[in-house]
Amino acid sequence: MGRPKVLTDEERKVREYERQKKYHESHRELYRESAKRLYVPISSLTEEEKAERRRLQNERSRKWYSINKDKHLLRTNDWRSRNIDRVNERNQERRDCGYRAVERANWKKRFEADPEKCRQYERRRRARRMDAQGFHSLDKWIARVEYHGWKCVYCGKDLTRKTLTKDHRIALSRGGSEWPSNLVPACKKCNCGKGDRTHYTPRTLKGDGHGEA
Ligand SMILES: [Zn+2]
Repeated sequence: MGRPKVLTDEERKVREYERQKKYHESHRELYRESAKRLYVPISSLTEEEKAERRRLQNERSRKWYSINKDKHLLRTNDWRSRNIDRVNERNQERRDCGYRAVERANWKKRFEADPEKCRQYERRRRARRMDAQGFHSLDKWIARVEYHGWKCVYCGKDLTRKTLTKDHRIALSRGGSEWPSNLVPACKKCNCGKGDRTHYTPRTLKGDGHGEA
């Protein structure tokens, strides 16, 4: 007999999961019975109990997903490619019944509650998509804004938490990083106008001695 193999945390997690699954499968009837006995219809739960049930369900599916991620992706991609017409149809249905408006309204509500948090979320997503180097916390970003005196670095306009936008001096799409040193505060107009260029002079400053040609 050889020395017992040392398992990584990941392997141990999978093994434990398989063990539980096997047990569950061989006692399926038992589980089904007790579930039936213990099941309480949603309508008779208090708000707190509903929240608790949701939390447990989320926890369970997250656990399942973390172990079966590859399987899940393969399966869904496979299903999608075989049923692409159905997918498009379903998306159209969702659009027709105003799904987008609901999503937009929810996002707006969240945005009004905490604009910087929402922007931070959007930017993280974008940076992940662009595969950018580096990262920064919200605090580091706000420190950068304070360093520039809450003014747009391009036109000098005063900024508030609501009008502030984050500009990457070197754009993410050009390989710029998410490190704080690559960030400057800008107003929305300048940020949009600048696009992915490295230098930018707003039109209002051009030709009156402030801007570069
Ligand atoms: Zn500006």
